[in-house]
Amino acid sequence: MNEARYRQFVLAEYDAESPEQRRRNPQEALLRFYGRQDAVIDKSIRAAKQKVACRSGCSTCCNYRVEARAVEVLAVRDYVTANFSPSQQAAMVDLAARNVAEAANWSHVEHHARNQRCPLLIDDACSVYPVRPANCRSFHSTDVQVCIESRQRPEDLTIRVPYIEEVFEAATGTVAGFVQASQQARMDGTLYDLDSAFLEAMRDATAADRLFSGAPVFRAAKVIGTPPD
Ligand code: SF4
Repeated sequence: MNEARYRQFVLAEYDAESPEQRRRNPQEALLRFYGRQDAVIDKSIRAAKQKVACRSGCSTCCNYRVEARAVEVLAVRDYVTANFSPSQQAAMVDLAARNVAEAANWSHVEHHARNQRCPLLIDDACSVYPVRPANCRSFHSTDVQVCIESRQRPEDLTIRVPYIEEVFEAATGTVAGFVQASQQARMDGTLYDLDSAFLEAMRDATAADRLFSGAPVFRAAKVIGTPPD
């Protein structure tokens, strides 16, 4: 990791949008952030010597544990309720509930060591592609064979999906800048397990009311990490 390059991405994203704008319309601010993140990732991929192996139709990484911030989960919920029929929504909620029940007693390491299909994956494609979380946008691989091995043997945590360092710095740096700016607006910056947070979002209509409350948006969802104060 080149710390100086990473910091440039953090600062650029932090400066890109004021916390006040974020507070006025968090969903619009999120979409603008996704546009900026997609752009810096694309630019880094084009500039890199190594090539990304990811191709349309491959959804191997959608079977790993997925993580997202509260505002992202709320955007996914809004997209799902606006674009899918009640029976399609019920199928997503049902798979999320089964994943959550299965993972209830798993530690973070155990969770990493098992596969679970994302409830938003339909026919091997992301059904919420325009609002997929930043971590999904960031994930990439230079060797699809390693991704397949990782999916076949999830318990072997020595298998590391290879990535391009410059792309990783751009992707994670913009996320860090976004989270820091969001915190200035007092937005919940907790990183949640997507399955359990999505399930709660679909079941609790009051969740969005807590986005700027200073309290966690999701009360039952599995917490992966909290940002520094
Ligand atoms: S949200 Fe979309 S891209 Fe992310 S894991 Fe789920 S199906 Fe895959």
